[in-house]
Amino acid sequence: MENKDLLMIPGPTPVPENVLLAQAKHPIGHRSPEFSEIIGEINENLKWLHQTKQDVLTVTASGTGAMEAGIINFLSAGDRVLVGSNGKFGERWADMTEAFGLKTERIAAGWGEVLDPEAIREKLEADTNQEIKAVIVTHSETSTGVLNDLETINRHVKNHGEALIIVDAVTSLGAVSLPIDQWGLDVVASGSQKGYMIPPGLGFIAVSEKAWQAYETATLPKFYLDLGPYRKSTAKNSTPYTPPINLMYGLQAALKMMRNEGLENIFARHERNTQATRAAIEALGLPLFAPNNAASRAVTAVEPTTVEAEKVRSVMKKQFNIALAGGQNELKGRIFRIGHLGFVSERDVLTVVGALEATLRELGHETMANGAGVAAATRVLAYS
Ligand SMILES: *Cc1c(COP(=O)(O)O)cnc(C)c1O
Repeated sequence: MENKDLLMIPGPTPVPENVLLAQAKHPIGHRSPEFSEIIGEINENLKWLHQTKQDVLTVTASGTGAMEAGIINFLSAGDRVLVGSNGKFGERWADMTEAFGLKTERIAAGWGEVLDPEAIREKLEADTNQEIKAVIVTHSETSTGVLNDLETINRHVKNHGEALIIVDAVTSLGAVSLPIDQWGLDVVASGSQKGYMIPPGLGFIAVSEKAWQAYETATLPKFYLDLGPYRKSTAKNSTPYTPPINLMYGLQAALKMMRNEGLENIFARHERNTQATRAAIEALGLPLFAPNNAASRAVTAVEPTTVEAEKVRSVMKKQFNIALAGGQNELKGRIFRIGHLGFVSERDVLTVVGALEATLRELGHETMANGAGVAAATRVLAYS
């Protein structure tokens, strides 16, 4: 059916109608007082969302551009860095730090497993000369649906004292609580098409005072993503270069919606939707890919054994106009992923679960009782 698409992938995520309409306006001059006012409001709300007093910097780039800014501004060629790698995005971090000539040591875990904070602690404790300049991790590993234990990893980094903690929070920001100042996270990168409920095109970087000190001596080459000019401009409710004005209109509207909902309510919604999805998958007799105690609140990965993952995706798309994500790299064809990040309601989850059950039947997966998935999701979502 035309115009009835439901986007249930972990990015780009669905965009609310009022955000789309906010973007459908003539651009105004980015040096005008009117636009400066918009930037001011956005900056305040970004600090609120990031739970930080520091200005959050906005760049015109996808999430990877924000990640790159998080590396080139604070490190120098030859610096020793530990990179957590348990999926595609952890690997992207490692590829990136290698591309910039950093001495990269992967702390690896299997795809679908959680990073072992102990392995990171051991490396840090053995580093008595304080050579390790950064520990770089992906909080929510979107490729596998695993949420890494950032709080524990960060505690070990704090005990080391020298190293910065640099975080890819692209699918955790706006889904789970990330108290940046309270934990003392140094660099936190995210992107607009994930938890922000707006289209792709903006990257965000939160930077601690300690990271700004490292910025003073960091020597990797940089220009467009040199965060120094962004810091100066942001403090004056301005931008160093022309921002995507219409995306900023959207961001302004989306952040307003988030403030109206409230941080705790946003996190609680993601938690309920995650638990409802996982309960339904189990009730349908499908194996969950990520462990229960390390489940991303943005995406649930499923590794079906009785049906083909790609066939599930294709029936869901053709028959129900629901887009699910597939597996990436070594997981291609092995898993499918249900996104529940951003503008996703309980109704969306029930819809996906019901459609998935019908899809499984069509594909000959007959082991579950009628309505088992919806029943399990409903039990999680029911209010007492
Ligand atoms: C989406 C995503 C990114 C950024 O990807 P872009 O395509 O550059 O926006 C980075 N890390 C994670 C974990 C992601 O999910």
